[in-house]
Amino acid sequence: MCGVIGIYGNDDVVYEIYEGLIALQHRGQDSAGIITYDEMFHLKKGMGLVNNVFKEKNIIRLKGKMGIGHVRYPTIGFGSIEDAQPFYINYPFGIAMAHNGNVTNYYQLREILEKKFYRKLTSYSDVEVILNIFGVALEKYLNKKNLFSSLVSATREVFKWVKGSYSVVGIIADYGIFAFRDPYGIKPLGFGKKNDNYAFASESVAFDMLDYRFVRDVYPGELIFIDKDKKVYSKRLRKQKHTYPCIFEYVYFARPDSVIDGIGVYEARLRLGEELGKECLKEDIKPDVIIPVPDTARAAAFSVSKILKVDCKEGLIKNRYIPRTFIMPTQREREIKVRQKLNPIKSEIENKKILVVDDSIVRGTTSREIVALLKKAKAKEVYLAITCPPLRFPCVYGIDMMTRGEFIAKKYSIKKIQEIIGADKLIYQTIEGLIKAVGGEKRNNFCTACFTGIYPTKIKKEEIEKLEKERIKTKNYFIKGGEDEGV
Ligand code: AMP
Repeated sequence: MCGVIGIYGNDDVVYEIYEGLIALQHRGQDSAGIITYDEMFHLKKGMGLVNNVFKEKNIIRLKGKMGIGHVRYPTIGFGSIEDAQPFYINYPFGIAMAHNGNVTNYYQLREILEKKFYRKLTSYSDVEVILNIFGVALEKYLNKKNLFSSLVSATREVFKWVKGSYSVVGIIADYGIFAFRDPYGIKPLGFGKKNDNYAFASESVAFDMLDYRFVRDVYPGELIFIDKDKKVYSKRLRKQKHTYPCIFEYVYFARPDSVIDGIGVYEARLRLGEELGKECLKEDIKPDVIIPVPDTARAAAFSVSKILKVDCKEGLIKNRYIPRTFIMPTQREREIKVRQKLNPIKSEIENKKILVVDDSIVRGTTSREIVALLKKAKAKEVYLAITCPPLRFPCVYGIDMMTRGEFIAKKYSIKKIQEIIGADKLIYQTIEGLIKAVGGEKRNNFCTACFTGIYPTKIKKEEIEKLEKERIKTKNYFIKGGEDEGV
């Protein structure tokens, strides 16, 4: 779970990159980094939110018309400062890179790079592996008269070796900026333009903020290169029969004002509510009011309310200044934080049968706390409707759900989960409803691995287990209070 941006402008691009990262902040709050290039690379990265990492003095130092930026939520590595992106190498060119995604054969590639190519890495970040494979391949295929063809060959090598998901942005010092997206198109990446300035960004919302025109999505398996004269080269190097954008982006992760792969996130959430409403109609419940869990579930709750013909009200208020509960390392901390984060409006709750709409249940902590809050506020009955189906399988592509043990639905039946969270009824979206709602008329292929266990990149069971084991190790490091320094 990360956000990336890359810009080739006419002036110092750091300001736009900074603004773009602010628009993408929801994609990662753990670290942020920007690298720019004029006659040399200028890099600043640190732990924390974008506006904490970059002070005026850093911004002034980051000179250059080319730049890339990154916000991170770690899914590989220890989440320490060494793993903060972007990264750069100096041979065969100065190459800088940042990505969103997760490399599933990371450990194997790291070993190959170290043992066969004597590349010594500086971190446990998977983009450093992509960058070095790209660098090794670029050296092998270098044709100075036709740089784009060399970049094509290097990207082909990346596609051949690197498994998993990756939407990449990068700089070739003195020559231009580039972007590519893995052949399955699992993570989003858009392409934008303003006059003769070009940009790549994880979500279209970044282009809106910067007043760029959203040109199109980078196609799965495509490489785009903007050379130093602003000439645009593009080539689709791999064309899979089907591509598989992550469906969870629409359920929870992306901003509702973004459009990803031609599908508006807000519209998708409205449709999720329609499909969920149909599921609610099948149940023997008569709610007096529909209440969304802010903020993600709001759009879906409007639609549920329309289908059920029951009013939708704001009955839960969110304190915006509490950090995300999901990333709290211990269960106890997560429970306390949910209570600090959400507070009911008692007049909307007392003596009423409430249908609460939320986007997802992972461990069940949030749901259990919400039901308890509403019951304490004297709700007569509390039903809970979830806009996606039960989450059961680890995400190996970059959404932070990498260990099976985290999923309450892996261990228990829906009936039992209902009992554990204390709801009077628990209603989930169906997988058919999910795909129909998100895809609409436009597509029916998505990565649904976290719901179905079907992984588009055909990862082996042992590889998933290895990733799970490593994730548990790195999460424990956090609990013990891993390092937290900036540079
Ligand atoms: P839990 O309390 O563990 O069941 O987490 C569920 C809540 O966390 C949902 O209400 C979501 O809004 C949010 N959520 C779901 N998936 C993620 C994720 N991968 N990262 C952060 N938050 C998430």
